[in-house]
Amino acid sequence: MRTPRGFSYSGIHCGLKAARKDLALVYSDAPCAAAGCFTVNAARAAPVRDAAARLPAAGIRAVVANSGNANALVGPEGERDVREVCAAVARALDVAPESVLAASTGVIGVRLPVHKLVAAAPHLASARGSAIELAAQAVMTTDTRVKLSSRTLYVGGVEASIAAFAKGSGMIAPELATMLAFLTTDVAVTPWALQSALGRAMRTSFEMITVDNDMSTNDAVFALANGLAGNPVIEEGTPDHTALGDALESMCIELARQIAEDGEGATKLVEVRIAGAPDVAIARDLARSVAGSSLVKSAIFGADPNWGRVLSAIGARVGSRRWDVDPTRATVHVQGACVYTAGAPADLDPLALRAKMREPHVTIEVALAEGSAAAVAWGCDLSYDYVKINADYTSLTHASSDGTVARDDRLTNYSPGFKHALLVEALSYISKFTNTRAVVKYGGAAMVKDSLKASFANDINLLRSAGLLPVVVHGGGPEITHTMEKLGLGKSEFVDGVRITGREDVKVVEMVLTGKINTELVSLLNQSSAHAHAVGVSGKDAGLLRARKLVGEGGRDLGMVGEITHVNHELLEVLLEKKYVPVVSPMGMGEEGEGYNINADAAAAEIAVAIHAEKLIYLTDVAGILENGELVSEIGAAELKRKIERGIIHGGMVAKAKSILRAIEGGVTSVHILDGRTPHSVIAELFTDTGVGTLVRKD
Ligand code: ADP
Ligand code: MG
Repeated sequence: MRTPRGFSYSGIHCGLKAARKDLALVYSDAPCAAAGCFTVNAARAAPVRDAAARLPAAGIRAVVANSGNANALVGPEGERDVREVCAAVARALDVAPESVLAASTGVIGVRLPVHKLVAAAPHLASARGSAIELAAQAVMTTDTRVKLSSRTLYVGGVEASIAAFAKGSGMIAPELATMLAFLTTDVAVTPWALQSALGRAMRTSFEMITVDNDMSTNDAVFALANGLAGNPVIEEGTPDHTALGDALESMCIELARQIAEDGEGATKLVEVRIAGAPDVAIARDLARSVAGSSLVKSAIFGADPNWGRVLSAIGARVGSRRWDVDPTRATVHVQGACVYTAGAPADLDPLALRAKMREPHVTIEVALAEGSAAAVAWGCDLSYDYVKINADYTSLTHASSDGTVARDDRLTNYSPGFKHALLVEALSYISKFTNTRAVVKYGGAAMVKDSLKASFANDINLLRSAGLLPVVVHGGGPEITHTMEKLGLGKSEFVDGVRITGREDVKVVEMVLTGKINTELVSLLNQSSAHAHAVGVSGKDAGLLRARKLVGEGGRDLGMVGEITHVNHELLEVLLEKKYVPVVSPMGMGEEGEGYNINADAAAAEIAVAIHAEKLIYLTDVAGILENGELVSEIGAAELKRKIERGIIHGGMVAKAKSILRAIEGGVTSVHILDGRTPHSVIAELFTDTGVGTLVRKD
């Protein structure tokens, strides 16, 4: 993005937030004319009080802005802290302390840890460059994206430019919405001319947005002009003054729309256009009332063409203000479709309108029949996420003793109401699972990464505590391959996920499966003494998995790969009766005591059938069954068979799919394939309504 001459920017992490950037700097090589517009909130923050008292002014060199802490409502120390931060930044930049302004955004009522900003000042100064985006990132709070705008303008025969960034998101209400914006330009202009141009730009932009009708303590818009473009200094009331004002206005509108669009929890940008009002003040007021109506906003979130709420919001405002406006004579358009005219609802196709309202931008136009004044306001829809973001904001935001503000969303920090609702819902689910038998095939990525191993062990223990009876069957994963290579036995060949296993190889398979993976998994599950109930079981123990040689397709010799002929589940029954968690290594035993390598997917299915498990879960390293890259979230047995035949399922998924068909045929009612790369996917699948992965059901 093009930036004006003589300006540089930086954005760094100074430790106000746990990890993200939190300190921004705007610096000019030459002294600037500076102007500012600020929140009218009577409880405004310390940096706002400081800057508002000093602007407009000449000779400004820099603005330092932090996110993560608002420096608001912390007592008289707040202003002292502002001065200390400005002085430290001035020292680092080698400019006068009076030439530095400050701005803050973030949590209210926590003292700013000044020492962190002071310590970071030299780095903040030396990190300066032309990348304005870095500064834009550093002021973000709940914003999901950076907000930037730039313009080129011609004044006094020279080319000048303006570059700006802003942050918004929540606590956004008209009267200067809650936000910070920084406009930098190389035009030459007097401080007062800049102030009046900026003030005019506010009226149609930041003053016309609303996210939540809540006015913040920290809103501030700064404009800095360093004159390096070399134009004759712009005075008030000249054509160049108008041109500068127009440019600032269009940039502020662009930034304001970005803020409304990225409102907390927003899914749509809403534009409300009022026309035919008796005067501009009324038009502006009504546009903001409609854009700020919770009912209108909720309807837009749901793509519900409930235009009655628009006229109701207007009627309520007009009535309470005793204005001479008759809303029943208005014409209302939603997404260009007429919904109300000539005193009556228009004939419309609600389905078509609903479809149009799903678009990311929704426009509501109200033409009153009272005059010729007009105004436009912007807002966003009101989604579930808005409440989620704000309901537990301070209880989830923790300022540690060193001043770092971080989110801690462990359940203990949520409001009692939320916890109760969650517990009631969770417990009623959990009680459904008492004594349910579930076989979990453990494979894929979940077997490799330490953090995933730990979350898997945790989940299995939780299932057991919740009264479920889990049986774990593990595969060999990459371990067998590694070990064979290490022992110089070469690379294994796979046919549909089944490893061709020689006579010598099967000993290695057993060593790794039973000797290593099984014991390690049992240790992991038994680590916490409260849950020490895992018992390692080889398929050979008590003749659990009886097997014979499996012959491959077309009579192909697969070596010592076996197929299960019988599951002697007595041992499992004994263990399950006493609430132990069997952890099965899929080794099969032939009639002569020879060991067979059994595919773990098949072993899990046969065991699930034998013990009459209600659930069978495959943890693997894909999201589930995929077709053209899309997750198939639910599928019947017949369709699954077709997908194997059509080659949509291949490789390791074939062994799983065939095993699943076998399990369903054997009476298992639901089989899930889950992504072992997501922590706690087993818990998420069992204990929430919306499954994660693929569910295969009986036809
Ligand atoms: P596991 O260790 O879980 O048994 P596998 O590698 O044996 O893992 O089997 C899963 C693999 O199957 C996936 O990583 C993927 O490459 C492959 N696969 C083949 N077809 C499909 C499909 N249609 N959907 C998902 N995965 C598929
Ligand atoms: Mg496999």
